[in-house]
Amino acid sequence: MDESAYYLDKLAKRDIKPTAIRLLVLKSMMGAGRALSLLDLETMLDTVDKSTISRAITLFLAHHLIHSIDDGSGSWKYAVCDDSCNCEVQDLHSHFYCEKCHRTFCLKKTHIPVIDLPEGFTLDSVNYVLKGVCPDCARK
Ligand SMILES: [Zn+2]
Ligand SMILES: [Zn+2]
Repeated sequence: MDESAYYLDKLAKRDIKPTAIRLLVLKSMMGAGRALSLLDLETMLDTVDKSTISRAITLFLAHHLIHSIDDGSGSWKYAVCDDSCNCEVQDLHSHFYCEKCHRTFCLKKTHIPVIDLPEGFTLDSVNYVLKGVCPDCARK
């Protein structure tokens, strides 16, 4: 499978019609190796209209192609979901926010701990963000 077929397939799996911009946004997000804010994407794709990028993000979120992360930095970050992810509580993983470079990473192998709620409470979402120093910054 060549590279663009891979991205086309990812969109198709989430029932999203491919457009050049959507493919570009998805590619940038997957290539980044970290979660990106809208501003990050606007900077990376500076030839693309900002509202077009934000519409793609909204669509991706609605189709569970990506998930959003509130890392406490004040701007939402977005990262591409694994194919098996339905963005339900059991699919959720932890995130790591580096306090030095202010980048946020998905810790896909680190599932969030099981939360025992008191009776009557229904769990909808969990935001599990760990903070510290990333490997890049630790080496500096
Ligand atoms: Zn860092
Ligand atoms: Zn994530």
